[in-house]
Order: sequence, then C-alpha cells, then structure tokens
Amino acid sequence: MDTLRVGVIGTGGIGAAHVRRVAEFAVGATVTAVNDVNEPVATKVAESCGARFEKDPHALINAKDVDAVIIASWDRTHEEFALACIAAKKYVLCEKPLATSSEGCRNIMDAEIKGGRRYLDVGFMRRNDRWYRQLKEAVDSGEIGRPLMIHAQHRNKAPQGEKHTTEMSAQASLVHEFDICRWLLDDEYESIQLVHPRSSKNADPDLIDPQIVYLTTRNGVRLDLEMFMNGWYGYDVQCEVVAENASVRLPDPANIIWRKNGMCGYAIYPGWAERFADAYAAEIKEWVANVKAGKCCGASAWDGYMASLSGELATRSRLEGGAIVKFPDVKKPDFYK
Ligand code: NAP
Repeated sequence: MDTLRVGVIGTGGIGAAHVRRVAEFAVGATVTAVNDVNEPVATKVAESCGARFEKDPHALINAKDVDAVIIASWDRTHEEFALACIAAKKYVLCEKPLATSSEGCRNIMDAEIKGGRRYLDVGFMRRNDRWYRQLKEAVDSGEIGRPLMIHAQHRNKAPQGEKHTTEMSAQASLVHEFDICRWLLDDEYESIQLVHPRSSKNADPDLIDPQIVYLTTRNGVRLDLEMFMNGWYGYDVQCEVVAENASVRLPDPANIIWRKNGMCGYAIYPGWAERFADAYAAEIKEWVANVKAGKCCGASAWDGYMASLSGELATRSRLEGGAIVKFPDVKKPDFYK
C-alpha cells in the first residue's frame, strides 16, 4: 500500500488534533475524509488537510477512498462506528472508551472474533508514552524482581467540557489507569473497591472528588489509584511500581528549574494534551505503520473490555458503600492472546 487513506469521525478537540498528527507524524498516510455532526467545524478541519467532508459517518466508513478509520466522536457513538468498521473490514483506531458499557465492548469483541482477525486498536495512548514504556521495560526485564504494589495518581486541574459526574470520573477518566496498570503488570484484576474522602468544595455537586480505587490482581499485586478531577494546581500523573528488589516511577516533568521569590521549582503540565503530546504523536505514527503492515499492535478490544468492566465494578463498589467487589471469572479469548 503506497498511501494509507484515513477517514476521521469526530473533529472536536482530539479528532482535529489526530488529523494534524496524521499529516505531521505518520509516514505514507493522508486524511481523505472527515465527519462530524458539527458540520462547520468539520468542514474547516477538512479544508485544513485537503480532505472532503462526509456528512454520513457510515458512508465515510464504507467509502472507497478510506482504507482505515479513526473514531474520535462522543463516547456513546464508539460502539456503533467500531462495529461498522469491523463489518467493512477496515482497520480502526477507536478513542477510549471503546464503548460506554462492558457489554458494548463484548459486542465489539464478538464481531471481531467472528470476522476472524483483528481490525481494532483502542486509543490507550499511555502505552505509547516513553516513560510508561521505560517502566514496562523495567518490569519485564525482571531486574526489579516481582512487582508487589502500584501507587498511581491522576490529578486534573479542573474538569473541562461536558459536565463531569462521579461515575464519569471512575469510568471515563480512571479508564487510563485501569488499562496502563494491567499492561505494566501483564496481569488481570481480581477485586476492586472504591472509597472516597469528603468531597472537595471545588467539585460540582454531581461529582464526588477525589475518589480512590484499590485493586488486587490474580498474581497478588495491590494497587491504589487516586482520581482527583479538581486538583487545581495542574495536570499531574504519577505511577510507581514497587517490586522486590527496586521501585521504579514516572519522572516529574523535565523542565528548567526556577529560583524566584524565595521559591525553587519547575512548571508542571497544564493538561493531558501537553503531558501526553509525544505519546499521541507516537500512537498515530505507530498505528499508521502497523496498519500499513497489516497488523494491530495497540490495546485490543479485550483491553477495552477489561478497562470498561473495571470502571463499572468500581461504580458498583461505591454504590455498595465501598464494598470489595470480585471480578467475574472472565477468560481472555485465545483470539487476543
Ligand atoms: P469533543 O471536543 O466534544 O469532540 C467530539 C466531537 O464529536 C464533537 O465535534 C461532536 O460534535 C462530535 N460528535 C458527537 N456525536 C457525533 C456523531 N454522532 N457523529 C460524528 N461526530 C459526533 O470531545 P473530545 O475531547 O475531542 O473527545 C472525543 C473522544 O475522544 C471522546 O470519546 C473522548 O473520551 C476521547 N478522548 C480521549 C482522550 C485520550 O486521552 N485518549 C483524550 C480526550 C478525549 P459537537 O461539536 O456537536 O459536540
């Protein structure tokens, strides 16, 4: 394949950025068609990259000038569009969450298994972050010994866009932690518990914030994950893997050190787009290269399913007053091994 022709559904914040990334970072790919319910914005994005605007997302998926699709529209549209891509036998990079329920993710897995081959990657771009990759290399090398604990934290300055609820925080935002920790450990979760302190006065009445999730894995690792949407001071993602012989953790931002007004310090990131800019670029670059080689190498529909299930069970735990909830005994299909 000389040039991979990409169609993009959803040209809001991340969709428009992915369109730019295809032009800037991918080798041998071009965006040929874009779709969004917001026609004026999508038309502008189309003009910016020489693509055409396609009013019907299903027509885009089935178009002759589209070889592969990026889904970056609202969460609740992902399942429908992912299923349509699989039916059309087109490679697809679907933004997280794969679907708004674990049942929806299962539908996608079933369709892919029935189709006999993988077409879908989920946009869990932390797997493309150089620092998370270094953590993974350290774990996989065995040099640190067997992992025992993970301490992780995901703090936002303040929620943006759509009104943020308690459930969204535990499902849409923590979904990244659920995925990356499974990936780091190459292990599955066994139980989950969600607890919370009193809520910050900065949080909306519909949002309990922060929330803390405790997980255990089948291999006996314990994790504590903090999700704090109204952290106020900036965007701060931390992760430490504590193992038998060593502990490894993400670095703080590599920024120049200021000494001013009796203080010493460095700037931290204002948001996820800045913190993970390189990871998104790598994600798009690698996805294009893999699709051109006929491969899917990113997070799979199974990973999307496990992340969704974790969010649902976390919410169940909260509704049951912080009860410890067991994961069902689901087995990874051979198809995804
Ligand atoms: P956004 O700025 O609101 O953009 C979403 C776009 O999709 C909007 O332009 C929206 O139209 C459009 N849309 C809604 N329904 C549609 C439909 N049926 N068909 C086509 N387009 C439709 O949101 P965003 O921040 O870019 O998020 C988009 C997706 O990416 C979400 O699923 C989100 O969870 C995911 N995301 C992932 C990450 C990550 O870290 N991987 C980060 C951010 C977002 P309107 O303008 O009319 O609303």
